[in-house]
Amino acid sequence: MDTVLYELKDYKRTGSLSEADMAELRKAADILGSGGLVAFPTETVYGLGGNALMKDASRRIYAAKGRPSDNPLIVHITDFDEIELLVAEYSDTARKLAEAFWPGPFTMIMPKADIVPMETTGGLSTVALRMPSHRVARELIRLSGVPVAAPSANTSGRPSTTMAEHCMEDLAGRIEAVVDGGSSDIGVESTIVDVSGDRPVLLRPGAVTREMLRAVLGEDIAVDPAVEHPLEKDVHPKAPGMKYRHYAPKAPMVIVTDGTEDRIADRMLSIAEERLSQGLKTGMIASEEVCGRLIRLKASKELPFMSTEVKGPILLYRLGELLIINIGSSSDEESWARELFAALREMDACGVDYIVAEGVDEHDIGFAVMNRLKKAAGGNIISV
Ligand code: AMP
Ligand code: MG
Repeated sequence: MDTVLYELKDYKRTGSLSEADMAELRKAADILGSGGLVAFPTETVYGLGGNALMKDASRRIYAAKGRPSDNPLIVHITDFDEIELLVAEYSDTARKLAEAFWPGPFTMIMPKADIVPMETTGGLSTVALRMPSHRVARELIRLSGVPVAAPSANTSGRPSTTMAEHCMEDLAGRIEAVVDGGSSDIGVESTIVDVSGDRPVLLRPGAVTREMLRAVLGEDIAVDPAVEHPLEKDVHPKAPGMKYRHYAPKAPMVIVTDGTEDRIADRMLSIAEERLSQGLKTGMIASEEVCGRLIRLKASKELPFMSTEVKGPILLYRLGELLIINIGSSSDEESWARELFAALREMDACGVDYIVAEGVDEHDIGFAVMNRLKKAAGGNIISV
């Protein structure tokens, strides 16, 4: 199958949808309406969309991603009126959270209505709903006239996609189309809260933070143990998708965290040099501050040839055999969120054998970033 790329040229340049862009979106919406699959931008990451009410469309989503069929899809809507068509119970808590965070990077798990097929919910009696705020996502869903099931638009297990190019990399030949609306703004997947039980539980952290949830709920939200201790054997996550090694680059990875910038840089470099001496191509992901220290440290021992490259959103330094990605200031967790998946993909593209990444403070969106980093590293963390 040839995958068509619908590039929204004017939207990417100006941030508003022209008539020409709308014509492209109508073609993509027709594909969705007739059961085809379309990857499209949202404010979190790119989604791989299909008609959520059509069993076959959902089955094809699993096949295109190579996703285990027990890992349910998130259903995307544009209007508050659609909620009650898709859920069997819309509780007061759910209503309060919907009013606070929709449209936006927020997903709620609720008991499903009969019209939502089990194929879409991975066999569960609950459904995940989200109302995105992204202009393109909203127009596309509205024009398609159906709720759109859309997991992240990546091959299962790989880092999520935040650009159309990355969707093409993973899914070309397997889906009908990709809508190119530029880079996703947030860069990590939506916050997931399960409101189907007695009390709300956070299943996946995202840009709607624990701090924001507390402000609406009036108390701290319970956090699924799998969020804080990913990959521990006795912890069974409630969001099936959180149990897999995930968001993962091909190379093994270690995180260095909890220390002064000097200590972190020191340790990161000594790990990297050990790997380099074993003949492994090594990559690092670090804050601007730690990058500066790494480069100075390295230059104090030897003077490697150094080059700087800008690759899309990524700033990359090459010092001899060592690759270093500067992911933004350590105080700017939003920049980490935006660039993390592109950085992990760049490591794959460069063919590195081992990755050393700096950790981030776990407040606000930093909690979500660290959660993805831990999962990408398979829980391999060093505190200095
Ligand atoms: P993705 O769309 O790739 O971001 O993955 C969707 C995430 O939502 C996965 O981690 C799923 O396990 C989770 N999810 C979707 N539906 C449900 C549900 N009914 N109950 C619990 N988790 C869900
Ligand atoms: Mg995913």
